[in-house]
Amino acid sequence: MTPAGWATPIHTYAVIGMVFLALLAFPASLLTRRKWLLAAVGVLTLGTAFLQMKLILLPLWTQSAVTPNTLLGPLATLAISIGAPFPKAWIRRATAGLVLVIACGGIALLPFGRAAVFIGVAMVLRMVSDHVNGEISALRREAFLLRYRSRLLHQQRISQLASLERLAKVDSLTGIANRRAFDTCLMEHLARALPCQPVCVALLDVDYFKALNDTAGHLSGDECLRRIATSLRKAAGAAFVARYGGEEFAVLFPLVEGEEMMPRLEAFRQAVLALDIRHLGRDGERVTISIGGTLAVGPENSRVVLDRADHALYRAKANGRNRVEFEPIATQQAPTAQDLRRLHNAALSGAKRLPERTEARQHA
Ligand code: GH3
Ligand code: MG
Ligand code: MG
Repeated sequence: MTPAGWATPIHTYAVIGMVFLALLAFPASLLTRRKWLLAAVGVLTLGTAFLQMKLILLPLWTQSAVTPNTLLGPLATLAISIGAPFPKAWIRRATAGLVLVIACGGIALLPFGRAAVFIGVAMVLRMVSDHVNGEISALRREAFLLRYRSRLLHQQRISQLASLERLAKVDSLTGIANRRAFDTCLMEHLARALPCQPVCVALLDVDYFKALNDTAGHLSGDECLRRIATSLRKAAGAAFVARYGGEEFAVLFPLVEGEEMMPRLEAFRQAVLALDIRHLGRDGERVTISIGGTLAVGPENSRVVLDRADHALYRAKANGRNRVEFEPIATQQAPTAQDLRRLHNAALSGAKRLPERTEARQHA
């Protein structure tokens, strides 16, 4: 039998509408940010629904005085509690609204006794939603951990690659750049070099190093190379210094004026002399270096430039070691006669001694 109140469901739907509007005003941003607040709202609303059922519904029920309006309070609270665990505001509101509409609509249409079934179904739905929410949270946690781990791995790869790249360019004995790094740097500079912006390339070789090795031992020889490398790097300033192989070093620096080349190369020689390393293989002598320098003024082949520097180094050795020699650019390699004259004059005026070959060529 249907009580008299059930015949007018229009009131019920009006209240449903109001409750639904109230749900829309839920502080979504607050709830989505704090999971524990979300859970607390769920528990509180569910508890309130039970309290309402116990305190209002049951006494009325026993008196057979339950109307759609008395059912609405507990149902609305229950509906909110079903929607509450969903982290997304629109799902929360839609679920609560839908549950309320279905429950109240069902109560209005069906015989009074079946209302209890709806409340039961609603509670089961609530449990399902709790379960689903728990699964979703676990999946989210897992996804977060996976993202975190993959980011960590990515960063590790990048730093490993960077350290490998660094290692590939560094000489393991002295810690300065190695031959590969120097060749790359030289090629880059040569590709960019202009007649008005020359680059100085020099080879520096330790004098009588084999004798030092033979008398002081290989380990002392290594230590000597390390000290020389450090002093060259200190003297270099903005210049690029590398260990080119064995007891040979290489430097590279762009020049603003040709005159600055010889004094700067001389500074490298002085820096090694200032180390004051006793040469055990040569009585009373210190460890010294010989330097051969040249200029590159355009897109030249790096091999040609290094051959010129090597030629100058050979002359420095032949002329007694512990000195700087300069090898000029062959006339046919210079871009213009005017540039060549300017650069040669500038570089040679800085040199302490004119190389014999240069003098010969200039007089020719
Ligand atoms: P010069 O003045 O003509 O350059 O004579 P030098 O004895 O320095 O030249 P040489 O080329 O005859 O000898 C170079 C020596 O450098 C031979 C080699 O044993 C030594 N050497 C090359 N690499 C290393 C190294 O990494 N450590 C040590 N301790 N010695 C090295
Ligand atoms: Mg040597
Ligand atoms: Mg050598």
